[in-house]
Order: sequence, then structure tokens, then C-alpha cells
Amino acid sequence: MIDYQDNFKTAIAAVEAEGRYRVFADIERIKGAFPRAVYYGGDAPREITVWCSNDYLGMGQHPDVTNAMCAAVDKVGAGAGGTRNIAGTTHFHVLLEQELAALHGKEAALLFTSGYVSNDATLSTISRILPDCVILSDELNHASMIEGIRSGRATKLIWRHNDLAHLEELLWEQPLDRPKVIAFESVYSMDGDIAPLREICDLADKYNAFTYLDEVHAVGLYGAEGGGVAQRDGVANRIDVIEGTLGKAFGVMGGYITSTCDFVDAIRSYASGFIFTTALSPVLVAGALASVRHLRNAHHLRVRHQERAAKLKTMLSDAGLPVMPSQSHIVPLWVGNPVQCKAVTDFLLERCNIYVQPINYPTVPKGTERLRLTPSPLHSDVHMEALIGALNDAWAVLKLQRAA
Ligand SMILES: *Cc1c(COP(=O)(O)O)cnc(C)c1O
Repeated sequence: MIDYQDNFKTAIAAVEAEGRYRVFADIERIKGAFPRAVYYGGDAPREITVWCSNDYLGMGQHPDVTNAMCAAVDKVGAGAGGTRNIAGTTHFHVLLEQELAALHGKEAALLFTSGYVSNDATLSTISRILPDCVILSDELNHASMIEGIRSGRATKLIWRHNDLAHLEELLWEQPLDRPKVIAFESVYSMDGDIAPLREICDLADKYNAFTYLDEVHAVGLYGAEGGGVAQRDGVANRIDVIEGTLGKAFGVMGGYITSTCDFVDAIRSYASGFIFTTALSPVLVAGALASVRHLRNAHHLRVRHQERAAKLKTMLSDAGLPVMPSQSHIVPLWVGNPVQCKAVTDFLLERCNIYVQPINYPTVPKGTERLRLTPSPLHSDVHMEALIGALNDAWAVLKLQRAA
């Protein structure tokens, strides 16, 4: 007899033994009170402050967004009712794709059910269409890109993170007429560093390569209209494909790519992960459309967001807490061990009503476990002072390493 359940138990026990068994926090966000939420995991429900949401600007609760979603559900109902090809392309989908193409200055855009699916489906399809393709992938690329590259079966070469010399070495070794795709991110979400986009574009030009950029942690947040770091750096027209999410700064759900008409048409026609799945709900699409439109004209939110992040970094380092260097709005705080990382976050939640999820393997390499703080325009000085106080207590009680 095979004991199926025993195999699953053993697999879980291995994760537990490493101290990285994941516990989901059961929370209910409070519309209009961002970043406050109700925590259901204790003896009784209680209010907490959330410090780890990817709803970077609080757009998930913005009245423009929620009103658009209520109006859409009243007008057209809940679901799309089919795949994009079979009755599932609603007028909201068409409008949002036009809006996203305009945001990035591209000819066309294509929606997916998530950012994960957009990376997976697009990268795997690129490698099936381009003959004898090689994909050059930054070593810290997101799991969704890695998975897409793996399933596409193109030759994969990994370049050291943000290392232009290594990227050039790998490009140089390839024949000039072999299709080469450089796949990378702008803002790397766990360290908060930013890729040298202009220099990567220069290399792509020199070696006749195609560029695929994941701007998931930058769309809505960087550039004059929230078109991402490529827009900020003035290189959006030099990137062949820009991929983004509607689930983080835009506060709703879904993913997309923008590129030329021909590229988008090819992915639309070949990508299994696009074709064989029900289209995003028009309610979500209406909310995302309102969010993108709002953020294109809300540069003050981006300014305030950067100011909040800078302020938090300064407060942490003034307190002698081991804040990691970051060039973006992401504020990582070093712990370096999964057991201690969980102990800190338990302390914050149980004793201080502050919610920060521990970040552990496989999201980051083992031994680099950390807290990942995401200050938003709605995190006030009072929230920040409470956080610093709580972290100081946690560091003292748990006898953790202070900054060198
Ligand atoms: C979150 C994330 C994705 C996936 O986006 P979802 O819309 O959440 O599926 C893709 N790339 C990166 C870098 C991410 O962090």
C-alpha cells in the first residue's frame, strides 16, 4: 500500500524543520483606513497596521477604483463568461488594453489573469516562436519568468545580477544572427535595487538582442505617468516588451504585456496561458482601468511615496537597525535566519499589533531572510514611530544583531 498522506506529511515536516513553514495571516482590510486591517488569527479579532502590502499606494481602496467596480458589477454582472476568444472580450478589456499601451507608449497591450501568468505564458511562447532562441536571464529574476523560460525550452543563460560585464560576455559568445532575448526586471522586489536599463539597452543594440522587462514593482510608481522605470529613464521606446501587474500599485488584479502589434498578436495567437482560460472579470478590469487612469495624473502620490520610503530608511538607520541598501521604495531589514525572522514578526504581531510577513526561502536565498517593509503614502509619521519602537523592542528582547 502506498501511504499518500504520509508523503505529504513528510514534505511539510521538512519545511517545518528548516523553520520556514509558512503561516498565512488571516486579515480583513478596512476600506478607507489603509494601512489598518483586522487580524483574525488571535483569540479575538483586533486591529493591526499592515507594513508589508504590495498595494503600494492604497489604490485597492481608492474611491475611483471601488466606485468603478461597483458600477461595473451593476452594469454587466460578475464574470466575463468565457475565454477572450469565446465571448469573454468585454468592452472594458478593450479599453484597458488601449490605456496600458498608451501608458507605456507602445502599439498594443494584452491582459492576462495575473502578472505571473503574463511572464510564464509570454516567455515560454517567445522561445517557441524564435528559432534556436537563447534567453539571457538575470539571476534574480522572479519565479514566473524562470518558469516561463524553463517550459519554453530555449537555451537559457544566467547572468550575474545586474552585472553588465557578465551580460556582455554571454552576448559576445553568441552568433550575431542567433535570436537572443535579455529578460530582466527594473525594480527587484526583495532587495529594492534597480537595473541599469539604459546600459542594458545599449548592449541589446550592440549585440542585436531583444529586451523583455518585468516592471511589476515599478508600474504606477515611477515615471511621469507611472509607466515604470523605463519611462523615468527615458528608455521605454528601446525596450521591446514591458510586462506589468494590475495587482500591486494598481491595487486590483491581473497582468499584462505591452509591445508592438505584431508581438502582441503572436502571443495572443500562440500562448496557451492566454488562450485557454476565462478572461479577467470585467469588474476587475473596470477597477484596474480607473486605477491606471487615476495614477497617470497623480504624480503627487509618487512623490509622497518616495518621501515616505526615504524617511523610513533614515529612521531605521538612525535607530541602528540593519536596513539593507535599496534604491527604491522597498525597505528590506536584514535578519539572516528563518527562525529569528519568524520570531521578530510574531513579536510585532502579538505584542505590537504590527503586521510584517517574514520573507524566507525560496523567495530569497537561505541565510538572507529579512523583513520587507513597504511604506505607502498613507503610512503616517505616527505609524512609522510605532514601527521603530516595536522593532527596537523586538531587537532587544530577541537579542538580534544591530547595524554594523
Ligand atoms: C508579484 C510579481 C509577479 C507576478 O505578478 P502577479 O500579478 O502578482 O501575479 C511578477 N514579477 C515579479 C517581479 C513579481 O514580484
